[in-house]
Amino acid sequence: MDRLGNQDFDVLIVGAGLAGLCCARRLASGGAFVLLVDAKKDLTESVHTTGIFVRKTFEDFDLPAGSLGRAISKVRLYSPSLKTVDLDSEQPEYRIGDMKLIYRSLLEECADLGVTFLSGTRFSASIPDKQVAGGSIVRLVKGRKRTDVRTKLLIGADGTDSRVARDLELDRNQEWIVGFEEVLTGIEGPREPMLHCFLDSELAPGYIGWIADDGNECHVGVGGYTDRFEPKTALSQFREHVVSGLFDLSNSRLVESRGGRIPVGGILKKIACERGLLIGDAAGAVSPLTAGGLDPCLRLSVYAAEIALARLSSDDPSRLRSYSGKMFRTKFIPRMMLRALFRSVKFQVQFEFLFWAITTWPGRWTAEKIFYRRASFPDVNADHPLRRPYVEGLDGHWK
Ligand SMILES: Cc1cc2nc3c(=O)[nH]c(=O)nc-3n(C[C@H](O)[C@H](O)[C@H](O)COP(=O)(O)OP(=O)(O)OC[C@H]3O[C@@H](n4cnc5c(N)ncnc54)[C@H](O)[C@@H]3O)c2cc1C
Repeated sequence: MDRLGNQDFDVLIVGAGLAGLCCARRLASGGAFVLLVDAKKDLTESVHTTGIFVRKTFEDFDLPAGSLGRAISKVRLYSPSLKTVDLDSEQPEYRIGDMKLIYRSLLEECADLGVTFLSGTRFSASIPDKQVAGGSIVRLVKGRKRTDVRTKLLIGADGTDSRVARDLELDRNQEWIVGFEEVLTGIEGPREPMLHCFLDSELAPGYIGWIADDGNECHVGVGGYTDRFEPKTALSQFREHVVSGLFDLSNSRLVESRGGRIPVGGILKKIACERGLLIGDAAGAVSPLTAGGLDPCLRLSVYAAEIALARLSSDDPSRLRSYSGKMFRTKFIPRMMLRALFRSVKFQVQFEFLFWAITTWPGRWTAEKIFYRRASFPDVNADHPLRRPYVEGLDGHWK
């Protein structure tokens, strides 16, 4: 790691989740000299997402070959008393991604493009570099070893509780839920690919319980506000009292457990300063209603990379000012209002009423819009952004 002390990077990205990897790939393909660091020793350890990709994502983005499971076109909603309503679509609406394969493939692509990657390396702090306008000297820690690295631009892709956000004095996530799930194999019986969503104010207060089943592995999880439930206990109750009544789990095998915080307060306003910017969960780029963050993190990363390349090519740090969460927030107002409604539901009887409302035609129409509309995150330069080569000086425009 010492050799890094003698190198200057154009961009240092902290966090090699989907946001960091996509941004690094994009920047490197645009000619930037990129350093990507992650605290994990191995990116495939402690995956914390179910990996459900919405149609809009797999239509617009090239994800690694073979990384997406079978199409899911059906959603079944359950009331607290397990009444059901089915929402069918004629199109493939969801696919569950093999996240380990996706992370590995993206990392290989980054390496091919010349990105330097350091695993097991934590971002600790940064200070302004007096010699370079907008530049930073960043302290990295690997085990007991500390190294200081110079970079023109610092990007925080370090998740919900972003240390980079704190360091750069940018906005930080104030509201989140916690999701916790088990990935199971060996479930007996014929199964139709389906997303099962459970409304339950006790097992999943403020969110849902879910079974995401594409006929391969089955993801069983709960999410909610931690002041109202204990996720591990809720998940075991959900598995024992609800899931085992619907599926034959007698020969099922636990592959892994996944969990983590999901920011649901909407995209943050101040996500850039002259020294750097935030992407992914660090920027709060998650749908406040569905808590889906994969599509937002892809779109925002590509957009951020465009802005970063424009800033590097002009050598003008003020170019980063155009990168602001305020542009996106208005698009999220209806979803933030629905999140407030969801947060306020505290009793099963309220969820039973909500479920009844979904059985009426306006309720069903709304539910179909939530589950099937191509609207997870506002499009920026929307014509297949990952496939398009970088165009120097391109400014983002809104559809
Ligand atoms: C249980 C659960 C299920 C979910 N399911 C879905 C789903 O099915 N579909 C969907 O669209 N969204 C889902 N989400 C949300 C989605 O997973 C996230 O929005 C998305 O993965 C965020 O990616 P990211 O790259 O921004 O952050 P992360 O994936 O959190 O990556 C951040 C990286 O930064 C690293 N890091 C953190 N701090 C430091 C540091 N100081 N130094 C160095 N490295 C650091 C971490 O090790 C990590 O690798 C789910 C979330 C959870 C918790």
